[in-house]
Amino acid sequence: MMVPPFIRTFKYIFMCLFVTFLLACSISLFLIPPSGKEDCRCPSGQTLTPTFDNSHLLGVVVPFRDRFEELLEFAPHIVKFLTAQKINHKIFIINQVDQYRFNRASLINVGFKLAVSAGCDYIAMHDVDLLPLNTNLSYHYPTTTLCHIASPEYHPRYHYNSFVGGILIIKKEDFIRVNGMSNKYWGWGLEDDEFFVRLKEAGLNVSRPTNLTTGIENTFRHIHDRVWRKRDMAKCFNQKEVTRRRDRLTGLRDVAYTIRSKHQLSVDSSTVTIVNTELRCNRTVTPWCLCSAEKKKETSNRQGKGR
Ligand code: UDP
Ligand code: MN
Repeated sequence: MMVPPFIRTFKYIFMCLFVTFLLACSISLFLIPPSGKEDCRCPSGQTLTPTFDNSHLLGVVVPFRDRFEELLEFAPHIVKFLTAQKINHKIFIINQVDQYRFNRASLINVGFKLAVSAGCDYIAMHDVDLLPLNTNLSYHYPTTTLCHIASPEYHPRYHYNSFVGGILIIKKEDFIRVNGMSNKYWGWGLEDDEFFVRLKEAGLNVSRPTNLTTGIENTFRHIHDRVWRKRDMAKCFNQKEVTRRRDRLTGLRDVAYTIRSKHQLSVDSSTVTIVNTELRCNRTVTPWCLCSAEKKKETSNRQGKGR
């Protein structure tokens, strides 16, 4: 029996529609992630890549001294977290081995240089004691400018709006543009607030994760025992006065240091590079890199007068 031509045409159109329908179904099943789960929260609109993106390499830069127990938790945790997001990365633990007070910002400057020479095109400035828990915190290459992962909205301890400490992701060119971080901050605090001013003056916007379903209790774990890990809050010489001001002189370009040695350390099969770093201090510019020297001087003066 002859099939009329219009029925044949109809059959072809129907087959085309059916194939298109099947294709659409498979695309939505296998390629588009279920909404609300894999959305990147920082910056909004970005999505997690299903495979490793070899066009970017993240350098995780950890300023470090005497926090071995925290490192034992941090290393496997962060490697697992980044691998789940399929992020190519290298981890640098910048271990301060000189006799001066801890200098978080200078160590980050050193770590940045090492990360860039290892091929990284963006870094995460990362405290060793702050572990990301919510899998929606994205460590991907930022689509806009900087991404402050440890947002004051979710950080367990710091809730002021200009806070940019804890964990901050920044592109190589942006870090260079602001001349990195100030080298004047020996001891605890304020170096991240000075960095915020650098970013602001350079017109660099900071984006942050939003609409997370977790809160200040469970977005991060801050492994910080305040009694055991005392913060070095001493202020000596004119430190207080100088560190309240924006530093237009020091930074990435003049950070003075010597790398003493490098070691690959594996913790539960997660490997990090330990970089033993000796910072140098210009005692004329920042005499407060050793507060105890002033105390000793004061004591000997007093003893001298007493005699
Ligand atoms: N840090 C360190 N040893 C020190 C002081 C600080 O390793 O003696 C590093 C470590 O990565 C830590 C970060 O600097 O997470 C920030 O210091 P801290 O945790 O004391 O400050 P917080 O931001 O919790 O007040
Ligand atoms: Mn801490």
